[in-house]
Amino acid sequence: MIVADATQLIEEGAAAMQLAARGPRSMASRRESFDVIVIGGGQAGLSVGYHLACAGIRFIILDANERIGDSWRQRWDSLRLFTPAKYDGLDGLAFPAPRNSFPTKNEMADYLEAYARRFRLPVRNGMRVKRLFKEGSHFVVAVGSNELEAPQIVVAMGKYQHARVPAFAASLSNEITQLHSADYRGPGQLQPGGVVLVGAGNSGADLALEVARAGHETWIAGRDVGQVPFRPETFLGRNLFAPLVLGFIFHHVLTVRTPFGRKARPGALSKAVPLIRVKRADLAAARIRRAPRVVGVRDGRPLLDDGQSLAVSNVLWCTGFHAGFEWIELPIFDEHGMPSHVSGVVTSEPGLYFVGLPFLHAMSSSMIQGVGRDAARIVEAITTRRRAVGAERSILVSA
Ligand SMILES: Cc1cc2nc3c(=O)[nH]c(=O)nc-3n(C[C@H](O)[C@H](O)[C@H](O)COP(=O)(O)OP(=O)(O)OC[C@H]3O[C@@H](n4cnc5c(N)ncnc54)[C@H](O)[C@@H]3O)c2cc1C
Repeated sequence: MIVADATQLIEEGAAAMQLAARGPRSMASRRESFDVIVIGGGQAGLSVGYHLACAGIRFIILDANERIGDSWRQRWDSLRLFTPAKYDGLDGLAFPAPRNSFPTKNEMADYLEAYARRFRLPVRNGMRVKRLFKEGSHFVVAVGSNELEAPQIVVAMGKYQHARVPAFAASLSNEITQLHSADYRGPGQLQPGGVVLVGAGNSGADLALEVARAGHETWIAGRDVGQVPFRPETFLGRNLFAPLVLGFIFHHVLTVRTPFGRKARPGALSKAVPLIRVKRADLAAARIRRAPRVVGVRDGRPLLDDGQSLAVSNVLWCTGFHAGFEWIELPIFDEHGMPSHVSGVVTSEPGLYFVGLPFLHAMSSSMIQGVGRDAARIVEAITTRRRAVGAERSILVSA
């Protein structure tokens, strides 16, 4: 049996008995009910919250981190956004910095905190969702020993949740310091000697430059991912290329609604993003050496695809992330472990939505400037479903 109004039961003191009668899942200490539960309180979750609040819907945002903005705060110390401030604001509140400046990661984190405060968004921090499952027509969210339920759920987060490190990393010599980019803060964490950055995407290139400038002999290993043909910080970058690429192409041309977008989507989902800020020429100027892919470990050292091993003291894994959706106990995943959806709407599980994933609807979907449009569209779908379910109920009651 589903507890239709858990709040009422708790108020009447009957909840404990009813919950206890419902088997192992019912051992949860209490179950709160909402119209919508948003899981994730980063830019995606806050954007969804903003639009839910505008629509007058009763909701809660649950986030695993202790403080709003922590997913930005936890990134490396020198990180600056590659998007200028004019593309770093969410719906309803512009980013408080000169439009063409590049905010630091902490400024972005503080902006998100201020955003939640400004719109009084109900965020509960320190709440890691361990399970999401279905009971009757409701979704149940388990956090610690508590359960919450709602007829509609939004999973609002990018795919950068869990560091991806190859299994052979465990065979590296103990004398080598190894870190994933998710745990790297600055060169002070490294020991003297050479560094190899495994993965030649944007994080690898940014960090390679930083450690080379700190005096380490540096290699960057992996496939060349290409580079965008402009520098974001130059006059042309800010005034011509950023509006053209970020504002127009990523947002309006490369979407699931255009033939260009549908053609580009599989590649955008499977390939690394070309270098944006740090260029090949910058790596060469800093005397960073290119190396083939790291394919294993030999004698405790990183082994390259050409059969050589590298005698380095430090390995920085810039090998990306995965979304880690194992906690979602619903049959909605494709062969890559990603949810099947249409622009964020999970059609096989009505009432379930995603926001923030790469190319959810457009190339801009996982970026700050694109997430608000997706959030507004998903809240529209939520509102429509609420109306439809409400209308169905009234027909049943009057019949
Ligand atoms: C190094 C780096 C630099 C970037 N720079 C830019 C840039 O300059 N411009 C740009 O537009 N984009 C940039 N991005 C892309 C994107 O804007 C960021 O990744 C952004 O943090 C995504 O926000 P999000 O809300 O979708 O996800 P996240 O920021 O990852 O937030 C998700 C939230 O969900 C929470 N969560 C996860 N699992 C659970 C769970 N089970 N239960 C409860 N809570 C959970 C996490 O605690 C987290 O707070 C960058 C990404 C990276 C990795």
